[in-house]
Amino acid sequence: MAELSLLKTRGLSRHFGGLKAVDDVDFDLGQGEIRAIIGPNGAGKSTFVSLLSGRYKASAGTVEFLGQDVSSLPAFRRVRLGIAYTFQITNIYTAMTVLENVSVAAQSRLKPNIFGHRHVTEATIEEEAAKAAATLGLGDMLDVVAGTLAYGHQRLLEVAMGLALEPKLLILDEPTQGLSDSEIENFKDVVRKINETATVLLIEHNMDVVMSLAERITVLDRGQILAEGTPAEISDNRAVQAAYLGEAAE
Ligand code: ADP
Ligand code: MG
Repeated sequence: MAELSLLKTRGLSRHFGGLKAVDDVDFDLGQGEIRAIIGPNGAGKSTFVSLLSGRYKASAGTVEFLGQDVSSLPAFRRVRLGIAYTFQITNIYTAMTVLENVSVAAQSRLKPNIFGHRHVTEATIEEEAAKAAATLGLGDMLDVVAGTLAYGHQRLLEVAMGLALEPKLLILDEPTQGLSDSEIENFKDVVRKINETATVLLIEHNMDVVMSLAERITVLDRGQILAEGTPAEISDNRAVQAAYLGEAAE
């Protein structure tokens, strides 16, 4: 089955001083995939997806999204093209309610036209926001002040905010960090549901989540792609096992 390209990087690099956090990465993502990115701490995973979202500028190389070179576009322009990203570090408005947080995200996706904002009522925004929150299992917590949520629920709120952007590509950076076992099970269902309308790129440490969700896995190590393949291929890969052995003992 020929897969349509959603995102493509060529020679993508980001240096911090002398450190090559992302080093000459050629990466291809097909439309409709669930792809996991794994790799040891410090491998460059968060930096890599930050280059996709526009949070960081590349030192070299290109990012193409649906055939368009987006390398020099700022993050908010990439959001409008359909790239949504949730940070590894919780990034919510703690003094606002769950519904308000998701509404801000839903609102931000609206592209102002020359007459000002597209004609969308506040009620429509809230409806969409409530729907995104419900998808993440936060439907009963719409009026809860976000700062008082348990950490795991704050992470889910972030994902709801990403979802409210109606992305073509949703990038999640360690979304299951801090979730309980039952929340992780629920989260897997959520990702499958999100995948009905969006491609999902997931940085994930929990191997059970990776193996049960991802169709393909990309392994980053020292800023480069060490291996790529199906879950079965990756778990049999000697180089991957070697890169991971040190960390598995943590
Ligand atoms: P991962 O997400 O795989 O754990 P990161 O992308 O966060 O890895 O980091 C890759 C490397 O780049 C690390 O050595 C990290 O210290 C470094 N790094 C990341 N962000 C910055 C930054 N803003 N300034 C300097 N160094 C950074
Ligand atoms: Mg990271």
